[in-house]
Amino acid sequence: MHSKNWIGGEWMTPKGAEATVKNPSRFAEEVGVLHLSDRSHAFAAADAARAAQGKWARQTGAFRGEVLYQMASALEAHADSLARLASREMGKQLGEMRGEVARGISLLRYYAGEGMRAHGSLIPSADTDVLQYSRRVPLGVVAVITPWNFPVAIPLWKIAPALICGNAVIWKPAENGSLTATRLAEIFAETKLPAGVLNLVIGKGREIGAALTEEAAVDAVSFTGSSATGRQIAIACAGRNIKYQTEMGGKNAAVVLADADLDKTVPILLSGAFRSAGQKCTATSRIIVEKAIYEPLVERLQAAISLCKVGDASDLDAYLGPVSSAAQYETVGRYVSLAAAEARLVAESPAYAEAERGYYIRPQIVEGVAADHPLVQEEVFGPLAVLLTADGFDEAIELCNQSVYGLSASLFTRDLASAHRFLDVAQAGMVRVNQETAGVEYQAPFGGMKQSSSHTREQGQAALDFYSATKTCAIKYAW
Ligand code: NAD
Repeated sequence: MHSKNWIGGEWMTPKGAEATVKNPSRFAEEVGVLHLSDRSHAFAAADAARAAQGKWARQTGAFRGEVLYQMASALEAHADSLARLASREMGKQLGEMRGEVARGISLLRYYAGEGMRAHGSLIPSADTDVLQYSRRVPLGVVAVITPWNFPVAIPLWKIAPALICGNAVIWKPAENGSLTATRLAEIFAETKLPAGVLNLVIGKGREIGAALTEEAAVDAVSFTGSSATGRQIAIACAGRNIKYQTEMGGKNAAVVLADADLDKTVPILLSGAFRSAGQKCTATSRIIVEKAIYEPLVERLQAAISLCKVGDASDLDAYLGPVSSAAQYETVGRYVSLAAAEARLVAESPAYAEAERGYYIRPQIVEGVAADHPLVQEEVFGPLAVLLTADGFDEAIELCNQSVYGLSASLFTRDLASAHRFLDVAQAGMVRVNQETAGVEYQAPFGGMKQSSSHTREQGQAALDFYSATKTCAIKYAW
């Protein structure tokens, strides 16, 4: 398969640099070829989006909703092949990838319905002869810049609300999600989506992403990715005074109190830490445990992790696949080496017999480092979790909040009062009790506090607020 750009309804293959995509589960398998765009393609996409946006915005919400329902049905028809492609492109275990595509379909349907629901409100006027109300209007052209770890769901939780609000979109996916992105655009090309309303530009972040955020005629940018890139984008957009949102990294804590049901807690901790090979912004990477139950919890973690099979992403029995790329393998590997040198290994999954075939990293849980250690403070984005102990609820909360990040946090307890206190004081955008740090539902607002976010929210109704502007309208009807 070859990547392609989709600009103004036309498919085109950039003639510049190429890169071969290899399956992170088995290097020997070539998945396809990327054709990298130059900046002129970003500008062409902005022109095409601008040309298409006005007519799209003038369509009724019902019409736009119908197009989104068609996109959902088209995706449903190709769900399995798309999940397989994405799994081969970036190494997410196939069962998880299927779940992600299913979520993408649900997101499209959820926002399709908003075509008939999203509305403003009546605002009482001080003048009896004035009808005053607010209405939502589109922003115009929105650049959507996405990471590789959720190559279908994250783009769709931006594209679907952007489209339903009447915007045109330019989508720049991460390099190692570009084949999946091309296929997704091909699937959407089967629908009545008008030419130029959704455009795809494949290329490097520092070139195409930067062209979109710094120069192209866009009205808003929605970005998900690393905190370092997010900060650059925020500065560029603030300088141009265009609307932006940046959803970024996390260092999410799960706090286990002494009264937690350990048998139920342990599988949730493992899933949060190791599914997707730990490559979720909401992955559980710090496990803070009340001292009284430290030993029994560790014993259970050791037993459970020994059943976590690391394997080829196409293996439905595998708990996790490889990490996604050589760059990820190197970065996560550095943290694994740091852990080997400065922490104590508590639990590790069995070795994968064919580990040399791909970018496999065995899940590990470590202990014995101080709260300010890089293993506790920096986002690893791989299958490595660190244990910390706490003397009671207050110290656990102090550790939980001792982070520059604030994306998600979980508490495990049977005590309702502790649960409420935690939901109140934990510094994270998504706070949960007896659930994974990952896995927030799409109809609920999604986003972080502190360095995890630009403090807007995605998904749910919050996305409609980002992708539209509010106009206050007033008519004096008797004068
Ligand atoms: P990244 O920042 O390297 O890249 C993300 C996207 O930005 C890619 O499309 C990339 O090409 C583009 N990009 C890179 N440099 C750019 C620039 N200068 N200007 C414009 N665009 C640029 O992130 P990644 O490695 O792809 O993703 C992993 C990171 O994403 C992790 O930190 C993870 O926590 C975060 N993430 C956050 C969320 C969330 O919702 N908070 C969800 C998933 C992933």
